[in-house]
Amino acid sequence: MVAEVLSQSGVRVDVYDAMPSVGRKFLMAGKGGMNITHAEPMPSFLDRYGARREYIKPLLETFSPDALIEWIHGLGIDTFVGSSGRVFPADMKAAPLLRAWLHRLRENGVSFHMRHQWRGWNDEGLLRFSTPEGERSLPADAVVLALGGGSWPQLGSTGAWVPLLAQRGVEVAPLHPANCGFDVGWSEHFSTRFAGHPLKSVVLSFTNAAGEEHRKQGDIMVTSTGIEGGLIYALSAPIRDEIAATGQATIYLDLTPGKSLERVQAEVAHPRGSRSMSSHLQSRAGLKGVQTGLLRECATAEDFADPARLARAIKALPLRLISPRPLEEAISSAGGVMFEVLDQNLMLKKLPGVFCAGEMLDWEAPTGGYLLTACIASGKSAGVGVLRYLKYLI
Ligand SMILES: Cc1cc2nc3c(=O)[nH]c(=O)nc-3n(C[C@H](O)[C@H](O)[C@H](O)COP(=O)(O)OP(=O)(O)OC[C@H]3O[C@@H](n4cnc5c(N)ncnc54)[C@H](O)[C@@H]3O)c2cc1C
Repeated sequence: MVAEVLSQSGVRVDVYDAMPSVGRKFLMAGKGGMNITHAEPMPSFLDRYGARREYIKPLLETFSPDALIEWIHGLGIDTFVGSSGRVFPADMKAAPLLRAWLHRLRENGVSFHMRHQWRGWNDEGLLRFSTPEGERSLPADAVVLALGGGSWPQLGSTGAWVPLLAQRGVEVAPLHPANCGFDVGWSEHFSTRFAGHPLKSVVLSFTNAAGEEHRKQGDIMVTSTGIEGGLIYALSAPIRDEIAATGQATIYLDLTPGKSLERVQAEVAHPRGSRSMSSHLQSRAGLKGVQTGLLRECATAEDFADPARLARAIKALPLRLISPRPLEEAISSAGGVMFEVLDQNLMLKKLPGVFCAGEMLDWEAPTGGYLLTACIASGKSAGVGVLRYLKYLI
């Protein structure tokens, strides 16, 4: 987006990327359906950026979700709003959008230089790159770093830029997993039997040590070591912070959200005769497969012996989460270049002429199109900032 803003104003732009091709994470984001933005009203949209709301606000004022949708249409790609309010390209794919975008950039004169890994600056202040042909040192009137966070490093964003900026006195908040799964430490039996099984439409409740309550309904995927999926990602920031602060986080799952505690208790108290506990729970409480397995994994023998306790476990099953999955596996990163060290044009105060954009900035948001929207909007703002810096705009 920086390249687009600058090239449209007649600035010569060179894009350097360590990978053999650009936009690999963008393409990956399109794999399960490219959710590029969200149709909700601006105040709640901005709330998704939590503590960084006020820093993201001017970026989205420069390039709003509506402007982003218009921009996609301008590339010849239709969009639609899903039932959840998420906005997708008509075919849900990223590749046609990226292809059209790159075509337009090349037509505007943007040059792409692949397999150029940025390594910082040399003693003369030139940009240092490692390339297959050896090291190159290159000048630039202005530099925009858009190096991504630290998740999915195989797609190019390795976070190797963190020490390069820290050495220059730029404050960077440590990168942490965001929109990530968590480890539980399942028994061998549960892990082997249920990894890959979804828990559909459960209600997750979580209260942190500070007393902040979270409650949300959705789907969870059981993994070999713990849990992941949309519902977990949505609450992963407060859960991650709780584990960092106290060493663990206990969440509570309601396995039968449509039924009251009293009703579940009456159902499980019903005489079960010669039926196994599993078929009793299936016929009376509607629990089956992974739900019953999870109940057996997390509830005690005493719970199973007492209908009142068993009903309470079904309605609020405690699950102790012991660690977030590693950054490399997360959908996105928290942490990055702190907004306090940037001016309103996203230029580093300590390094005039060097701007930062995208996920490498210190913000996080849930999935739902909020990530790409803020990345692209920050690119627009940094591009405008460069135009001001180069005196193309006053
Ligand atoms: C599986 C998955 C699904 C996702 N789905 C969605 C979604 O549906 N909606 C959504 O909004 N977001 C989604 N995201 C998140 C979104 O893709 C990212 O937030 C976004 O791509 C970040 O953009 P960026 O330009 O800041 O960084 P990146 O896209 O990570 O790009 C950074 C670029 O910098 C290059 N680079 C890094 N270091 C160097 C270096 N030293 N020298 C040269 N080049 C370097 C990398 O090669 C890379 O090309 C998803 C992410 C993943 C992993």
